[in-house]
Amino acid sequence: MKLEELISELLMCRRCGLCRDPIDVEHGIDGTCPIWRNSTGFETDFARGKIQVALALLQGNLDVAPEMAESLYRCTLCNSCGVICPAGLEVAKLLEKVREFVSSKIYVSEKHAVIAESIEKYGNPYLTPPDKRFEWLGKDLSKMPDEAEIVYFVGCTTSLRTPEIAKATVKILNSTGTDFTVLKNEWCCGSILLRIGFRNEAIKAAEKVVKAIESTGAKTVITSCAGCFRVLKYDYPELLGDVGFEVLHTTQFLDKLLKEGKLELGKLSEHMRATYHDPCHLGRHGMVYEEPRNLIKHISNLEFVEMAPNRQFSICCGAGGGLKLLEGALAVKIASEKIRKISDMKINALLSACPFCKYNFVDAVNRQEMDIKIYDVVELVAKVVK
Ligand code: SF4
Ligand code: SF4
Repeated sequence: MKLEELISELLMCRRCGLCRDPIDVEHGIDGTCPIWRNSTGFETDFARGKIQVALALLQGNLDVAPEMAESLYRCTLCNSCGVICPAGLEVAKLLEKVREFVSSKIYVSEKHAVIAESIEKYGNPYLTPPDKRFEWLGKDLSKMPDEAEIVYFVGCTTSLRTPEIAKATVKILNSTGTDFTVLKNEWCCGSILLRIGFRNEAIKAAEKVVKAIESTGAKTVITSCAGCFRVLKYDYPELLGDVGFEVLHTTQFLDKLLKEGKLELGKLSEHMRATYHDPCHLGRHGMVYEEPRNLIKHISNLEFVEMAPNRQFSICCGAGGGLKLLEGALAVKIASEKIRKISDMKINALLSACPFCKYNFVDAVNRQEMDIKIYDVVELVAKVVK
């Protein structure tokens, strides 16, 4: 997008402020922007203020102060505000474009530079040597075939922060006789780079990943991470053109197996009352709402209750858009608020379908000593797969 086009889209903001804290009883909406609700209360902590800062910076009407530029990154890109914006602005997409311009021409924070360097050097944003990536798979990594019908793209966060999700996925794939492999030289998908405005670096990462997938001959790629899912499915074609493989989130793939009669689910050993949190990259950005719910509903001894708001109005867990890496304490505060808001549902488990959501909710629960279990849907499926 050219700078003039970006500016004219930003100028479409009517400054109505609906993106700050709307109430819509019918959809269970009591607030929209997780940042606004959990930070300073300054105008720059919700979309209207960010848009004004972006315009001033892009038009050269504001001296570049680090705190001003950084306010554009204090946003999970959840697009909750974009769903209700009366001007029809796709706020998250716009802010991502703004970040691209700011990061390439105006200001790069030290934390962003470290993330980009870590991915360049280690293939993940966590400054972790690449040989740690498949520790969760142990000796089985060498047994993975070079070619297969399906590639399981594990992702940096699943591998290095929530490996229990990866183990559960592999268990189900083996139980269902799925012809799959992993990328032994798996590299960051580039999602975080794209979200913080490092487009050229994201393209390099995408090229590496696509080349590795192509070498396996796979026509389908499945991902645990909602962020990997979105970038592979929607951003790669935009960055690289047609990539020649189908991308499914694991919940979509498992739901497909369930409907084809290739996945049988049994009963949890203990009764569970649970609700489901829609990950932003999977739900609002990827329109995947029903498949995870269908899997959950097929697990016996699990009582499912919907939280409000849900689906396109769901409130972000706080980890997206680079916030978990850039402002970890704020990300955890957002997750804690979300859990507190659903505490009167008398649930004993909160389910999601993204390692970032799980990682952030677990951090919140541990720090606040909350009495609730956090699971990825795939972990529960693995418990009852026959
Ligand atoms: S809701 Fe849309 S138009 Fe209104 S202030 Fe927010 S971004 Fe601007
Ligand atoms: S995208 Fe999400 S976090 Fe960012 S301004 Fe909008 S509602 Fe707030």
